[in-house]
Amino acid sequence: MPTSRIEEFDQELLTSLQRREPLLWLNDRLKNGTPGMVAGLDPAVAQARFDKYAPVLARLFPELESTQGRLISELVPVARLQREMSAGGLNDAAASTSGGIWLLKRDDALPVAGSIKARGGFHEVLSLAQRLVEQSGLPGADDALAMAGPEARALLGRHTLSVGSTGNLGLSIGLIGRGLGFQVVVHMSADAKEWKKERLRKKGIKVVEHTGDYGAAVEAGRQEAARSSTIHFVDDEKSEHLFLGYSAAAAELAGQLSALGRKVDAEHPLFVYLPCGVGGAPGGIAYGLKLLFGEHVHCFFVEPTASPCMLVQLACGDLRPLSIYDVGLNNVTEADGLAVGQASLLVAPIMADILSGVFTVTDDALMLDTYKLAQAEGMLVEPSAASALRGPLWLGDSAQGKRYLARHGLEPLMADAVHVIWSTGGSLVPREEHERFQARGAELAA
Ligand SMILES: *Cc1c(COP(=O)(O)O)cnc(C)c1O
Repeated sequence: MPTSRIEEFDQELLTSLQRREPLLWLNDRLKNGTPGMVAGLDPAVAQARFDKYAPVLARLFPELESTQGRLISELVPVARLQREMSAGGLNDAAASTSGGIWLLKRDDALPVAGSIKARGGFHEVLSLAQRLVEQSGLPGADDALAMAGPEARALLGRHTLSVGSTGNLGLSIGLIGRGLGFQVVVHMSADAKEWKKERLRKKGIKVVEHTGDYGAAVEAGRQEAARSSTIHFVDDEKSEHLFLGYSAAAAELAGQLSALGRKVDAEHPLFVYLPCGVGGAPGGIAYGLKLLFGEHVHCFFVEPTASPCMLVQLACGDLRPLSIYDVGLNNVTEADGLAVGQASLLVAPIMADILSGVFTVTDDALMLDTYKLAQAEGMLVEPSAASALRGPLWLGDSAQGKRYLARHGLEPLMADAVHVIWSTGGSLVPREEHERFQARGAELAA
């Protein structure tokens, strides 16, 4: 990192990051009140597209029949996990003082893609398919159901979706893209899991492997697509369609909270904890939630201690790219969905005003919490998806968390607080992988 930028960085924070100490970083630039809509980024556009094409999705994807083509994940109380994690507190030192109720948002079980990438992926692929079909001049092309017909499928089959991925985005774009009839190529980093590559290949998806990290795989895909008019690159670092697709989760959550009789207002704060990789999925959701609930929702991201890319980008105080490599970290983590070195520069500037903070988590803590979730609630998720479970403890029990609550006058309200912990992936993970995670977690718990 250029010397001037090291000096701008808070030295104490820098040292803690470099030592990979788990920490909660507060965003001092958080603005109060409801943010304005960013030009061109209206979550209602994504919602309308999901509505319009629900009948097509119900027809093409058997998993979506029971919800009439809607992508929905459950919001469930996790009382037993809350009790057990609260008993040990943040560092197994003293019982937690954080109050309220913990709810788990089960995007790990989203249909078709098995991860949080489903909403973004469906919206991205649908947007492209819509444009191609509408421009095609096929008879009846303006009717949504035309997209499920043989002519449209033949048309889409002449186009290729290309995506760079550590795994889950590739699975999402791949399975959705093939479902709609596209050809799909997934560029993967060397560290992507073997089972994901196999599953993609079995579905007729081409996998190209790259040495180097996630950023390198993305760049390779981007360059190939730039040379062709029938290859469409899904850009995880820049795509507004992905971002908007993710943002649609906010209205879904609002409806579920209201169905549970949970208010979100000046007396009832909502805390949301979101695992962050490049930032698109948690960013889209946080953006959607802030538009709906303004200062009554408090969004925190969680990142691995080896890859805190959004934290580093926001903490450096300006929006020129700064990666975790620049501060001396190496991006080596079991949390493959979160192993990203550079945050999205589409998302980071939007988060600068609306994100409350970022906490970090070690790989051991991830594995332990993956195990605790299975023990307490019988839910098997991938380690990335368990990364947010300590969020309420960071808020209630750490010095920084208490500072945040005091600063916003929240302490007297915490008994009525709702903590939504976003669980982001796992239902497509093979049994042997789950067994490996659980064995490691059990070892750490012993
Ligand atoms: C992709 C992913 C995330 C984070 O999404 P980004 O858009 O990369 O920030 C979180 N959890 C899982 C399991 C993921 O696959």
